[in-house]
Amino acid sequence: MLRSQHAVRDGKQERPGDGGETGRGGGFLPSPDNQRVTDQLCNLLGAVLLLPLGLALGSFLELAADRLPRSESIVTPPSHCRACGRRLTPGELIPLVSYVLQRGRCRGCDTPIGAGVPLREALSGVGLAAPWAVVGCAHPVAALILGGLLLGAVSAVRLVL
Ligand SMILES: [Zn+2]
Repeated sequence: MLRSQHAVRDGKQERPGDGGETGRGGGFLPSPDNQRVTDQLCNLLGAVLLLPLGLALGSFLELAADRLPRSESIVTPPSHCRACGRRLTPGELIPLVSYVLQRGRCRGCDTPIGAGVPLREALSGVGLAAPWAVVGCAHPVAALILGGLLLGAVSAVRLVL
């Protein structure tokens, strides 16, 4: 009797082991495919967040690259049109968007803004976000450093040319 009870107990102990192996095959634990999708989502989300930051930094660097060679402050006066001196409203300070909405011209005096401004803003945004979009979640520090270098390179090219 005792032997048969042990045999039954041993038999029951084996079944959960089989069930565990079936569960592993069912995909509850990270598989290479799941991990790849998670990384891609992480990269995409990070890039979506970095893009507007890069646009804003590019816009600020645009202002700095315009004023610093003239020995002007980058803080005061607030952003204004070089042609008519009109102070820009918050709605006219949105990188890329303002340029498109104003069709590339000052709202006050109709002076063309120049396509280089939105182009460099866009390149700054893409430059900061692109490395993260590729390897950001696997190598975050390297992605941010490379993004920062690309962002800086856009402004450096503007100052040299
Ligand atoms: Zn103007």
